[in-house]
Order: sequence, then C-alpha cells, then structure tokens
Amino acid sequence: MKTEFDVAIIGAGVTGAAIARELARYDLDIALLDKEVDVSFGTSKANSGIIHAGFHSTPGTLKGKLELAGNRMFDRLSEELEFPFERRGELMVAFTEEELRILNDFYAQGQENNVPYMELLGAKRTLEMEPHLSPDVLGSLHAATAGIIGPYEYCFALVENAVQNGVELICSAKVTKIKRVKDRLHLTTENGLKLSSRFVINAAGLFADEVANLVGMKDFKILPRKGEEYLLDKRVGTLIHRVIFPVPSKISKGMLVIPTVDGPVMVGPTARDIDTKNDFSTTREGLKTVFSHAQKMVPSVRTSDIITSFVGIRPAATGGDFIIGPTKVKGFINVAGIQSPGLTASPAIAEMVRDILLNEGLNLDVRPGFDPKRKAIPRVRSFIENRKFDKLEETIKTNKDYSKLVCRCENVTEAEIVAAVKRGHITLDAIKFSTRAGTGRCQAGFCTSRILKIIERETGIPLEKITKKGPGSEVVPLVSKKGWAK
Ligand SMILES: Cc1cc2nc3c(=O)[nH]c(=O)nc-3n(C[C@H](O)[C@H](O)[C@H](O)COP(=O)(O)OP(=O)(O)OC[C@H]3O[C@@H](n4cnc5c(N)ncnc54)[C@H](O)[C@@H]3O)c2cc1C
Repeated sequence: MKTEFDVAIIGAGVTGAAIARELARYDLDIALLDKEVDVSFGTSKANSGIIHAGFHSTPGTLKGKLELAGNRMFDRLSEELEFPFERRGELMVAFTEEELRILNDFYAQGQENNVPYMELLGAKRTLEMEPHLSPDVLGSLHAATAGIIGPYEYCFALVENAVQNGVELICSAKVTKIKRVKDRLHLTTENGLKLSSRFVINAAGLFADEVANLVGMKDFKILPRKGEEYLLDKRVGTLIHRVIFPVPSKISKGMLVIPTVDGPVMVGPTARDIDTKNDFSTTREGLKTVFSHAQKMVPSVRTSDIITSFVGIRPAATGGDFIIGPTKVKGFINVAGIQSPGLTASPAIAEMVRDILLNEGLNLDVRPGFDPKRKAIPRVRSFIENRKFDKLEETIKTNKDYSKLVCRCENVTEAEIVAAVKRGHITLDAIKFSTRAGTGRCQAGFCTSRILKIIERETGIPLEKITKKGPGSEVVPLVSKKGWAK
C-alpha cells in the first residue's frame, strides 16, 4: 500500500466520497480514509434521501448555493454511476391562512435562489396531484425538480468509481494524529497506520470538529441534532408520489412523508439537539410526534405500517452554514457542518473543494483513462417489478444464482449478495445497503443465516467473526466448550 499521497480525505460519507470521485478525474495519488469498516456508515446511511429543489435555504448562504448546484448534477451522476434517482418533485402543504402566507415567502425565497419549475397551487390542484393528502389542505408550493435517491447506494457508487480510477480506500482507519512536517501533513491512525499527504480534507461529518482539533483548530463545534425516521410497509408506497413537506419550523424542515426509490414510504425526521454524538435510540415521544405530523398531511399513514425505524444525527456546525475552505494550517481543508441539504449539495461541494485545491497550488492534470462509468449490480427485483422478464431470463443465463432467492421480502438473489461481497461489502449492514437484503417486512428474519453463510463461503471469514457493522457487532455468539459465551 502507498503511504505518500497528494490528497488524503478523512471521512467516506457522501461528502468525502463525492470529493474522492471528483478528484479521481485528475492524475493524483488520493487516499480516502474512514474509521468504520465500510463506507457510508455515518450520517450518510441514515437520512431522508431527498435531493432538495432549493427553496428552503436562506439566500446568500453556502448551503443554498451548493444545494441548487448539486441538485442539477444528479441526472448525469445517476446515469454515469447507475444509482436509483427519480425527480418526483416536492410539495410544501399549507393548512391555515398563516401557512398559506408562509408558502408565498418560500416561493419568493425559491425565486431568489433561482429554483426553476416552482408553482403555487390551490387546494383542488394539490389534491388532484396527491389524492391521499388530507382534504383540509388549503394549498401548496410545488417544486418539480426535487428528487429521491438511495443515499447509501449513491455513496457506494461514488466510492466504487473512485477506487476503479485509482483512489486508495482505507477503512477501519480512525485518524487520531495529524502533524505538519515541512510541506506535508503526517497522519496516524488508531491502528498504527502512518501516511503523509500534501493536502488533507476534513470531511469527518459529526467528528469534523474533533479532526480539526488534531491540527489545533478550535474555531467551530459540531452540535449533534438527532432525527428519528420510520419506514413503512410498501403498501403505503402507493399513497403518495411526491415528497410531502409541512410548512417548516426555524430549526428543521419539519416532519415529512417521503417516497423512497425502493418502494416503502418514510416518515420523519424529528429534530432535537442532543449532547452526545452516539445516541441512536428511537423514542416513544419521537414516534408520537412524527405520526401526529405525518397523519395531519396524509391521514391514512398508520403506525401499524411501521417495519423499522432509525436515527440519523445531523452534524450542524456553530454558525449554521457549511464550513468549507482552507485553514491557517497549510494544506488542511475543512468541509464541515455538512448537515441537510448535504446529500443534495455533495457533488457541488466536491467541485468547490477541487477549485480550492487548484487555488492552493495543486496541479490538476487530467488522469489518463479516467472512466466516469460504474456498473450497478443487476437487481432481479427491479426486473420483476418492471415486468422485464426477457432481461431476467438473460441475466439468469449469465449466472444461474440470479434464480436463487435469498431475501424473500425484497426478492434479492444469491448472485446479488455474492456480487456485493466481491465489491468488498462483508458486513450484514453493508450487504443490506448494497442489495436491500433484509430491509423488507420480516427485517432479515429469513435471510440473515443465508447471508452469513454466503459471506463465510466467499471470504473465508469464520461465521463467528462476521459482524453486523464492524468489531463488537458479531452476529453469531461464540460457542466454547463450556457453552454460549456471555
Ligand atoms: C435524519 C436526517 C435526514 C436528512 N435528510 C437529508 C435529505 O433528505 N437530503 C439532504 O440533502 N440531506 C439530508 N440530510 C443531511 C445529510 O445526510 C448529510 O448532510 C450528509 O450525509 C453528510 O455527509 P458527510 O459525508 O459529511 O458525513 P458522514 O456521512 O457522517 O461521513 C463522515 C465520515 O467520517 C468518518 N470519520 C469521522 N471521524 C473520523 C476519523 N477521525 N478518522 C476517519 N474517519 C472518520 C465517519 O465514520 C463517517 O463515515 C439528513 C440528515 C439527517 C440526520
């Protein structure tokens, strides 16, 4: 493995991944480091998956500028990298005269931000577009350019394409020391890896303040803001087509009803400032709040439809806006405070970082043979849903394991699991994120043991060492001669 790089990126969430993929276009030695066993295991795995249109952000903010620019890049990105993306549009719905007035303010704000294809709609037209909305709706703001994506699939695709083009991905590598020696920054990881780089990009999400502290910078703090989300049964998927927003509060966009690219609808998230960065518990109070808001907009959404819940923590920075730029430590660049709409803004953030590096003196010669295309793993489920039976037959002819179902709820086959393992995803969570196995109604009750056996067979990792999401989350308890380990 190389130990000297031009650019080392700390953090392989969507921010670091988008930067790595953008820089892979150039003839550079690049390292992408993450403390977790796989990529997209931070905030990027737990969000609403919306590519926002751009009318929520305050004009003049970095967030607003990069949100709009990022939104425009997703058609090309999804074509090149084959991750699911659909421009479904979003509706902000009003239920009182006061909320109708606020819709007008958001419309004006969207115009100031140059958001295209927005319109204010009356109650009749709103209900024609989304018949399952509450009949009490008085009007809405429609923004047609909003979209939905599979956030982790997007992140995996960015990293796979970056690696394909020469980027070195180093997981299980928590950076604990950074020292400037002459014109280079020397990095040490918790497990003793040492490397050096001319430039270091701090894209460490929730921990960006702690990474900045490693070079003695204490000028911002990350204030964790917790969001609880609930995933509903696919049945609810047919109820709405667009992302449904309420009129928001001062600190968040409010609790939404969100279609996902995989079918199920999501409701949430809550927004609560918390003291720790590792409180991933859902609460009875959160559930009540989310459903009372969601049901006001879409009355037929029911708690009995919940199949799972999760928490994402927003890495909000003091000051509220994204913090992106060079610092007083030469070569150290912050990309911090990337809270919502960070997913939307990520490709535009990557271009901004590229320009900063150019400005700081990095040569950007085009990498010979850069290939922007990444092939997705074929999905049997999508062939079945879209009635592409010829394509299904053709795929099975290439590999008969495309006919062996492993996850019955989501129709995921053995060939898809093996392909994910071959791409380096060897934990249950990473298999889930890359194939959807285990995300359906039975929540992995049926497929877990089958997936474990496939990972064991393909990698040689003994069953008891296979984890859900890294060390400490082993799935099969150790059995000693004395019986089950505690
Ligand atoms: C509930 C919720 C809903 C959201 N919904 C949306 C939405 O619909 N649309 C939208 O645009 N945005 C949304 N967001 C925001 C979006 O998810 C984030 O802006 C984005 O995921 C941030 O990505 P990131 O790469 O900066 O951070 P992360 O994904 O957290 O990545 C940072 C990475 O750094 C690694 N790391 C940390 N410290 C170290 C270290 N010392 N050494 C090595 N690695 C380290 C971590 O392991 C992690 O993988 C939402 C956020 C939340 C919480």
